[in-house]
Amino acid sequence: MMRWMLLAVMGLCCAPAAHADRAPVPVSTINMPPGWAWPPTAAMRDRGRRCLAALDRAGVQHELLTRSIGRVTTPVVVPEMRFGGLLVRPVYRRARPPVMDCHMALTLVQHAPLLVELGVRELVTGGFYRNRRARLRGQSVALLSRHALGLAVDIRAFVFSDGRALSVKRDYRHPLLGRIEHVLAGSGGLRALVTPKNDRNHRNHFHISAKMTLDDAHPDDMVDIAELFRRVQQHARRARRRGRLAQ
Ligand SMILES: [Zn+2]
Repeated sequence: MMRWMLLAVMGLCCAPAAHADRAPVPVSTINMPPGWAWPPTAAMRDRGRRCLAALDRAGVQHELLTRSIGRVTTPVVVPEMRFGGLLVRPVYRRARPPVMDCHMALTLVQHAPLLVELGVRELVTGGFYRNRRARLRGQSVALLSRHALGLAVDIRAFVFSDGRALSVKRDYRHPLLGRIEHVLAGSGGLRALVTPKNDRNHRNHFHISAKMTLDDAHPDDMVDIAELFRRVQQHARRARRRGRLAQ
């Protein structure tokens, strides 16, 4: 894959929010899981129920939120922030634990054994749910970020069982972070992993987004990257044209 194309698509899902990102976001199914719609369809609610049952089976204590949270289909909090053998510590200390979609919580549980095997016991995280737009080549575009669905998290640092902490910003070249990146990239369980290696906008964190499989015809929640990029460019051109006509 061409490098510019990879960077463009990576930037689509994860760069830090700019002020403009806080504007109301339009709904588009580009960059959304196949079959995604808003309000949620019966299939989406069904997948949410299945996910909650999987969290129960994994022994993860969680609370389903009954109030609606943006466009998060199955919003949960995990009060103790313990996901299997991993403790997750948000860098932004708030009274309540962060909201995420159940599929994000399940993704952390599923990846915990891989990280524990590498000696990780704790993740220091930035944002989970944020209602904001995606960014393309550093620019905000009129599409939702996966953070807006509660399906993404930014990992700032990894804490190991011997007490060492490696920060992505400061220690990215440490072999252990390279090993973690390699293992996560090869797990097959993530929709996207964006790091300083594949996007210069991700100097200080690993962005992880969870798969939310809604359509059995697209079980990987992933379209062809080149096709996705083409569609995003087309969408941006149409939006610009509409903007010009409105002036
Ligand atoms: Zn992110």
